[in-house]
Amino acid sequence: LVEIRDVRKSFGQVEVLKGVSLDVAEGEIVTIIGRSGSGKSTLLRCINALETVNSGTITVEGRRVSAGMANLRQFRQRVGIVFQAFNLFPHLSVEKNITLAPLLTKKIGKSQARALAQDVLGRVGLSDKIDAWPEQLSGGQQQRVAIARCLAMAPHLMLFDEVTSALDPELVGEVLKVMEDMARQGMTMVLVTHEMGFARNVANKIVFMHQGKVWEEGPPEKLFAAPQTPELRSFINSVK
Ligand code: ATP
Ligand code: MG
Repeated sequence: LVEIRDVRKSFGQVEVLKGVSLDVAEGEIVTIIGRSGSGKSTLLRCINALETVNSGTITVEGRRVSAGMANLRQFRQRVGIVFQAFNLFPHLSVEKNITLAPLLTKKIGKSQARALAQDVLGRVGLSDKIDAWPEQLSGGQQQRVAIARCLAMAPHLMLFDEVTSALDPELVGEVLKVMEDMARQGMTMVLVTHEMGFARNVANKIVFMHQGKVWEEGPPEKLFAAPQTPELRSFINSVK
């Protein structure tokens, strides 16, 4: 579904991605781990065309990705992204947050849009919050609405960048559970997380990024049990 080939990305003089290659198959759950500044977020943003690579290629569903690509808006509908900070519009109800984009881009009416909101809220366990306002929700609930809003666009791929990092510890589990359910239902997902338990139990593939490169990758049981490089070994020890 996703093919990344020798991608380089610089900000000014600083090269942040130094030749990254990575494949994500349909239905695969890929977890990116690594130290702060290793380029994890930058890579995710490149996959969603929020950043344009300097060289190398990214293709998603066979289409070459760039900020200048044709039908960028439709592309972003198929590739949902959720960030660490809550991205809900504070002046819109939960329903409106979810239905804003579908009303604009899909040819559906108001009652259909409400039914869609009801459906995706059900999938994140928030059926009773359709008329709530973002400020009335806990951080975990807000993050689940943000996920529901992506789901409303029927994405083929979901990107998650540390979506639980800003949450109080007791709220992390409910968001991870929603992501686990999505994984079980066959959604292709690429996520950056510090939740090593989730990485171990849900991911098909772990990618350890270090200094702008894919330093090691493999199935979780192999990568965690037998890291091949001192960099990964020390990273694993630091997050234990
Ligand atoms: P963290 O775990 O802290 O989120 P990360 O692995 O996600 O780190 P990135 O956010 O991809 O790291 O950043 C990699 C490097 O690129 C950092 O040194 C960062 O300062 C730099 N960088 C990222 N975005 C920009 C930008 N828009 N302009 C300039 N430098 C940037
Ligand atoms: Mg980051």
